[in-house]
Amino acid sequence: MDYDVIVVGARVAGATTAMLLARRGLRVLVVDRVAFPSDTISSHQIQVPGVARLRRWGLLEAVRAAGTPPTRRLRFDAGEVVLDGSFPPFEGADALYSPRRTLLDAALVDAARSAGADVRENFRVEELVWSEGRVVGVRGRERLGSSVALRARIVVGADGKNSFVASAVGARTYRQRPVRAFACYTYFSGLPVTAGEVYRRRGRLVAVFPTNDDLTMVYLSEPLSGFEVFRRDIEKHYLAALDGCGDLGGRAREARREERLRTTPDQPNRFRLPHGPGWALVGDAGVVMDSVSAQGITNALRDADLLAEALSAELDGVPSLAAYHRRRDRAVRPMYDHTVGLAGHSPGITERLLYTAVADRPAEVTRFLGVFSGALPPDSYLNPAAMLRVFGAAGRTRGARRRRARAA
Ligand SMILES: Cc1cc2nc3c(=O)[nH]c(=O)nc-3n(C[C@H](O)[C@H](O)[C@H](O)COP(=O)(O)OP(=O)(O)OC[C@H]3O[C@@H](n4cnc5c(N)ncnc54)[C@H](O)[C@@H]3O)c2cc1C
Repeated sequence: MDYDVIVVGARVAGATTAMLLARRGLRVLVVDRVAFPSDTISSHQIQVPGVARLRRWGLLEAVRAAGTPPTRRLRFDAGEVVLDGSFPPFEGADALYSPRRTLLDAALVDAARSAGADVRENFRVEELVWSEGRVVGVRGRERLGSSVALRARIVVGADGKNSFVASAVGARTYRQRPVRAFACYTYFSGLPVTAGEVYRRRGRLVAVFPTNDDLTMVYLSEPLSGFEVFRRDIEKHYLAALDGCGDLGGRAREARREERLRTTPDQPNRFRLPHGPGWALVGDAGVVMDSVSAQGITNALRDADLLAEALSAELDGVPSLAAYHRRRDRAVRPMYDHTVGLAGHSPGITERLLYTAVADRPAEVTRFLGVFSGALPPDSYLNPAAMLRVFGAAGRTRGARRRRARAA
């Protein structure tokens, strides 16, 4: 065998998996059809739990040293009411970061290389190599090079939502939901922010976060049903959407747009069975969800962590990939369901009442931001007991206010 593990795809899921496996002493090759630094269609909030992992692995410093500003506070504007607070700390991290993918992915590739993994850029996998019903390697080529076969005990598909590896092994999909929304984002200079901003409206969500080079990223998500109209004049519709978000439209018009608008309706929601004989999937190749909740990078970092642990046991002869599958699904499912709901862009009455009930209660706002950042599972908050706590207390506060007003 040439390697213990070959990882196809070298961005968040792939480079991280390769790094963690190499740190465990395994012989790892990670390949990507592009060379780094390389951008991709993705905005780039890393939620607090993802930041905690980067910190634990000693990678946060590289992100910070590159001038990526931390975002500790979030202003969540739901129209009738604004929730303003700080993220609850999570395993030593208390901020989200929004590094450009050119920076983050290159830092992860460097970390994989430093850990001892072989890295081949500009290498496209074109085929899987099989033996007796088991994947035993890949066949691919460097740009202008000839085709080579490389063998490994396990091949990991970290090759994104349109994963070649997943199709080649016929990975079963489940819990699939229709595409609900498209996304469009760009970068401004001269649009300073002191906190992250999210605007939740019927029919759209807008997110504003600071990133590298003193730029501010402004992201818009709207229902897929409006995509054909939107694409006829992207800039006009994008700015009109920002006009519906407080003074954001005015601030964006006064600022300078530094990059093109990137727009995509390619936002599937699906799970894939993440393992089989000689293969495993990680990151978007395994579970992908709408970008509206900005969880994909954080999910990929978590799943790389889970997969690296499972693979090193598996390669020591302890079957562990079924447990990886269970742990991944347990971790991601509540946020997946929440995200698919968010991407429908029609906040219901319970959600709106919830915002009103928690708005002037800092501890509840912090808890809400914990859900938003993925530090707390959505179903730990949006369940009957929590609702009773929130609405019960809100009712008591209103009752007390009324009694005080009558007595005055
Ligand atoms: C509009 C938009 C905004 C988003 N915003 C956020 C956000 O703010 N925060 C967040 O957490 N997530 C966000 N996401 C999601 C995030 O981009 C993904 O979840 C994340 O990139 C998944 O990482 P990955 O490593 O699994 O896959 P990818 O980033 O897709 O990387 C896959 C890699 O595999 C390589 N590859 C594919 N096929 C082959 C092959 N045959 N041979 C060799 N290499 C191959 C590709 O070149 C690529 O580099 C957003 C997504 C979109 C669409």
